[in-house]
Amino acid sequence: MNSPSLTPSSVENRLAGLQYVIGNTPLLAIEYAFRGEPRIIYAKAEHYNLTGSIKDRMALHILRKAYREGRIRAGDRIVEATSGNTGIAFSAIGRALGHPVTIFMPDWMSRERVLLIRGLGAEIVPVSRQQGGFLGSIRESEELARKDSHVFLPCQFANDANVEAHEQSTGPEISLQLESQGLEPAAFVAGVGTGGTVMGVGRHLRRKNPAVRIHPLEPAESPTLTVGHKVGQHRIQGISDEFIPAIVKLDELDRTVQVSDGDAIRMAQKLAAQLGLAVGISSGANFIGAVMLQNELGPEAVVATVFSDDNKKYLSTDLFNEEPIQDGHLSPHVELTAYRAIDRVCGLCEGQNE
Ligand code: PMP
Repeated sequence: MNSPSLTPSSVENRLAGLQYVIGNTPLLAIEYAFRGEPRIIYAKAEHYNLTGSIKDRMALHILRKAYREGRIRAGDRIVEATSGNTGIAFSAIGRALGHPVTIFMPDWMSRERVLLIRGLGAEIVPVSRQQGGFLGSIRESEELARKDSHVFLPCQFANDANVEAHEQSTGPEISLQLESQGLEPAAFVAGVGTGGTVMGVGRHLRRKNPAVRIHPLEPAESPTLTVGHKVGQHRIQGISDEFIPAIVKLDELDRTVQVSDGDAIRMAQKLAAQLGLAVGISSGANFIGAVMLQNELGPEAVVATVFSDDNKKYLSTDLFNEEPIQDGHLSPHVELTAYRAIDRVCGLCEGQNE
């Protein structure tokens, strides 16, 4: 038998292949009781993406679009300011496409994150609080792009392609997966980092049903969206950065839901311990946000959310410590019973339906 011949793997081929390892995730129907009352919440299992987080969708879409529009060339350096999952996503996908990658990040980020990004072949430039921390990271990445024409800046906080990624993939997947069960969502809730998830899923669901409720979520301890700028400190990594991103249009959304970081941590711990769903802290927050919406809309209301990543990047955080129960926490009243995975929707991968 002849051995298969090796053909050069063009960027187009690599991009086309990546769509089979990013997006098209299962939807989990999570059965639980709230103060003894049986209910179901629907959560997209985004830890199934290539690098284990929802940010792969945005990184792949931004790069694919930039290639299509000729704004990135082979060998250009991808430069992004980020504190976590976005850096991991651009590092992995950037390297898969043959690009050098530089990530600017605040120097107080966890060791896991630094090692993971470096392990994916990217260069890390740490930025101290004196140099401006998170906002300083954005400034420095823009400065580098101004000086070097071989730099591609994804600009996740201001790039509409971030919203589009979720409008064209996460949103339609949720609709179709619920439809396959004869259901239609009454509400969607998601914690806001860049806001790409809530804006994009929201736009898709609203087009199908203008009455659907779309709620952004923020940490109660650091309510950036409500106050308008950074206040306080919180432990829900990945959401509520230091400003309201340009792609977030609060006037298109329903009320911002606030969840305390301790409740989010206890809920994420419960999802792992009671159901074996090892998700990150923001997933716990999103689950609590969905419980709050069902408290408002009724126990039968079909409420959807996302589990943005898994728990492995949080090994050195309070997610693995005992978290005290506090007044107002909802997690103590949630008993998780079982979950059922609703299959991926064949042929829905972004790119196939364009
Ligand atoms: N959760 C985690 C763990 C994240 O990394 C992010 C992205 N920063 C989000 C939630 C929020 O997603 P988005 O940027 O789409 O608002």
